[in-house]
Amino acid sequence: MAGANPPTAQSRLAGPAMSVAMPGCRANSAGAADQRADLSAAAPRVRVMLPLPLPEPLDYRVPDASTAAPEPGTFVRVTLGSRRLIGVVWGKADAESAPAIPFERLKPINEILPTPPLQPELRRFVERVALYTLSPPGAVLRMAMSVEAALMPPPPRRVCAATSAGLAALAEPGDGKKLTTARRRVLETLRDGAAYSVAEAARRAGCGAAVVRGLIAAGQVGERLLPGEMPSPPPGAWDALGPKLSSDQLAAARRLVERTGAGGFSVTVLDGVTGSGKTETYFEAIARSLAAGRQVLVLLPEIALGAQWLDRFRRRFGAAPVEWHSDVSHTARRDAWRAIASGRARIVVGARSALFLPFPELGLIIVDEEHDPSFKQDDGVSYQARDMAVLRASLAHIPIVLVSATPSLETVVNIARGRYQRVHLPRRHAEASLPEITLVDMRRERVAPGHFLSAPLALALGQTLAAGEQSLLFLNRRGYAPLTLCRACGHRLQCPSCTAWLVEHRFTGRLQCHHCGYAMPVPALCPECLAAGTLVPCGPGVERIREEVAARFPEARIALMVSDLLPGPRAAAELADAMVAHRYDVLIGTQIVAKGHHFPMLTLVGVVDADLGLTGGDLRAAERTYQLLHQVAGRAGREDRPGRVLIQTYMPDQPVMQALAKGDRDGFLAAEANARRAAGLPPFGRLAALIVSAGDPDTADFTARALARAAPQLPGISVLGPAPAPLAILRRRHRRRFLVKAERSVNLQAVLRDWLGRVRIGGSARLQVDIDPYSFS
Ligand code: ADP
Ligand code: ZN
Repeated sequence: MAGANPPTAQSRLAGPAMSVAMPGCRANSAGAADQRADLSAAAPRVRVMLPLPLPEPLDYRVPDASTAAPEPGTFVRVTLGSRRLIGVVWGKADAESAPAIPFERLKPINEILPTPPLQPELRRFVERVALYTLSPPGAVLRMAMSVEAALMPPPPRRVCAATSAGLAALAEPGDGKKLTTARRRVLETLRDGAAYSVAEAARRAGCGAAVVRGLIAAGQVGERLLPGEMPSPPPGAWDALGPKLSSDQLAAARRLVERTGAGGFSVTVLDGVTGSGKTETYFEAIARSLAAGRQVLVLLPEIALGAQWLDRFRRRFGAAPVEWHSDVSHTARRDAWRAIASGRARIVVGARSALFLPFPELGLIIVDEEHDPSFKQDDGVSYQARDMAVLRASLAHIPIVLVSATPSLETVVNIARGRYQRVHLPRRHAEASLPEITLVDMRRERVAPGHFLSAPLALALGQTLAAGEQSLLFLNRRGYAPLTLCRACGHRLQCPSCTAWLVEHRFTGRLQCHHCGYAMPVPALCPECLAAGTLVPCGPGVERIREEVAARFPEARIALMVSDLLPGPRAAAELADAMVAHRYDVLIGTQIVAKGHHFPMLTLVGVVDADLGLTGGDLRAAERTYQLLHQVAGRAGREDRPGRVLIQTYMPDQPVMQALAKGDRDGFLAAEANARRAAGLPPFGRLAALIVSAGDPDTADFTARALARAAPQLPGISVLGPAPAPLAILRRRHRRRFLVKAERSVNLQAVLRDWLGRVRIGGSARLQVDIDPYSFS
């Protein structure tokens, strides 16, 4: 802390803006003065970071003189106001902060938890992410201790085992006389002394839990308590040989393995066309790191984390990795967290939040689909997981590999600047050719109202069906229609809480807001003019495309792959398996179909509306459209049958469309880089978004104006706004945006910290800071 005699964190907390109560132990503060000297002389004070949005750690004292000060990183339970919380010892309290809160008024640490301490490297990472994203460090820490149950000693597990009576019954000759088949199966399951819960024993024996309980009642199975620690995740055959690599793959793998073996921080970009075998190639680096006794983290976009990837991993290494994503149960997360912290879990595959897991021996990070926008988290702490993964690797002095067929411009520029090294896979595996891409100029196509498939696309669908091959139709829009309007009065059905149209979902018969989750049944009358039967759907969503395909090709077996119709990655994986098994002819989906899937019989990809992502103020609109469409196109013709791609667009002359048609990725990136450089936009300049929101428009405007008055006037910085956000109202909150543009030489975080420190955000107003924004809504 700087300054001569700064207030401690605890006294800062007492400010009116904070909702937490002032801590301080009344019992102690009332204590006698002579006690004071003893306490402070003997028991040290420590700083404890709590998983709360506080500006810094708080001071606590060690409970008594006989307890040694816990090491930094130790998890402790403390009291804050009336709350009991788990925090992390961040270090000894510095002398400067000591005078402000007298020692005897400090609360004691209530309990020191026997959890493995948070490693120095992870603590540093938390601090650096907080500094970079302008978030309170406690809010970042919360991501590193997201499963509180994992921090407690695990509760004992009740397990069952066959008793000697049970074993005797099993040994008796004469099948089925004394034992039912189900009971026999349970006893056989338990014979080898494995310790299963009743439910697990029943599951393995393929019967109900009642059968196991019956055996317990009969004294043939007994129960006992085991210490709670879960068994280690199954060890894999980390040195098992993978498939024979092609010479390109081998050369690439060698370079990755070299860097993994060398240790130390390095960033390698594995840039390979779709289907070139990037996964097999980086598996070699993983094998190397695991064989060297290090832990490995693979980050994947949530929706790419399907069973296809996991199956391949299992085939390669003979064991499943530990998974970390939204579909993982709370119990599994708790076990995963502990297994990772204790080093028992060697390899973890997860979505962006896995970046904050407590690996003690991390040796390698892989970020697959590094360009994917879902690596950016927009709410809470807004961070870009790919960039923060590079930071984590640098703090841990380990290599990181960024993998993509369409690397982000940021990454491409970092290669050009010599900061990242590139390893290239220019060809598809096993002679498969890249698909032929054709643009369909929708300005020339005559498509009946309410229909969306052009003649060339419909023809190609028919041909593909006739050839017994599979097609994929891509439209990045859920539901049936994005807009419903009244033919009589022109009224458009809008969300009551957001500046957004309601999207019709036919399967559920409801109109939904995709921003806040509001839903209502499709009304019979226009809510505005009360006319009956005048509401009409406008525009297509995937459900409507399905209807059109079904009408044209009644014999086609059609599947929809959309996140809202699939409860999780597992269900998506099952659908993908059904596609591989050719139980469907046409798959229609949103971006969930674009990632990672490998469907050998898929030879046609149709993009229904390629222009969708190009509208709006997103500076990466063109880049994202290119990446997404290229990725979707990459699903076609991945094996011996050649693939073709038809892209429907009203803007065939647009550079993105031209680049896609010509397969000129590098030309596109170069043009895009020039445009961004000229405009001073990332990665050639820095950008931050400030979003002010409030329960009423006046407070939002008032706060935004106060911010505007205090805005920095410095060379190399320009502040745009405030302006109403495109999503001007979200969940009934009124939103105003600033965009801060800075030259690369400017320390944007320092400027923002100074600016925001001079403005009070009061009342219902909230301010969200988004460094490197990806969303401009
Ligand atoms: P990418 O990730 O570059 O799109 P993948 O790693 O998914 O490519 O590989 C595409 C397909 O080719 C997969 O089915 C994969 O198993 C297969 N493949 C890639 N390399 C090899 C190899 N050396 N031997 C056998 N199969 C391979
Ligand atoms: Zn809404």
